Amino acid sequence: MVISLFPARDNGSPASSPASIRCCTANMRLCFEHARIVAARKAVNASLAQQWLACQAARIKLDSDSIHLLFPHQEVAMSDQALQGSCLCKAVRYEVKPPFMRFGHCYCSRCRKATGGVRSTNIAVAPDQFRWTQGEDLISRFDLPEAKSFARQICKRCNCPVPHRSRDGQRFIVPAGTLDDEPTTKPAGHGHWSSRVSWVSVDESHLPTSD
Ligand SMILES: [Zn+2]
Ligand SMILES: [Zn+2]
Repeated sequence: MVISLFPARDNGSPASSPASIRCCTANMRLCFEHARIVAARKAVNASLAQQWLACQAARIKLDSDSIHLLFPHQEVAMSDQALQGSCLCKAVRYEVKPPFMRFGHCYCSRCRKATGGVRSTNIAVAPDQFRWTQGEDLISRFDLPEAKSFARQICKRCNCPVPHRSRDGQRFIVPAGTLDDEPTTKPAGHGHWSSRVSWVSVDESHLPTSD
């Protein structure tokens, strides 16, 4: 389904602030799918895009050309500095460059097992925005056989989770807790919220939830 957007303010000037851009469906804020495409196309910097990851209309399919209507005069924003990350023993090191395709929490049972905590917090980026800088030979991978795509990698020396490439090769998944630098954006939502354990409580109730 192709939907139309509101590319301009009333005076006709390009829309450039989050508040001025609305998804046309029910006046909702820009949905996850829109923002993901925008970020992936590097049409806007990630911090801007992630402010809009509040709409749960992710099922809307947007004609890719319509994206250009959103930011008709904005240039590619890849100026964000690469962020450094490492495992617990520092033998494995990497760097990842914004903008992120996705930055969010997941409360599914697999992520609980994989992290040992109540949730995972992962960042997804395009492969060309990620690189290993040290210790790649120390990495061990596990692909969960019954899962379509669930995988994890660890440092064999300290058993700390480290990033992994998705099975389809389309993205790198970075456990956000392994970053040594502060990202300029924050998690945008709670994934698999209904799978959370009963004893979890979070103070991020302003974030949208999804299952
Ligand atoms: Zn390590
Ligand atoms: Zn999960």
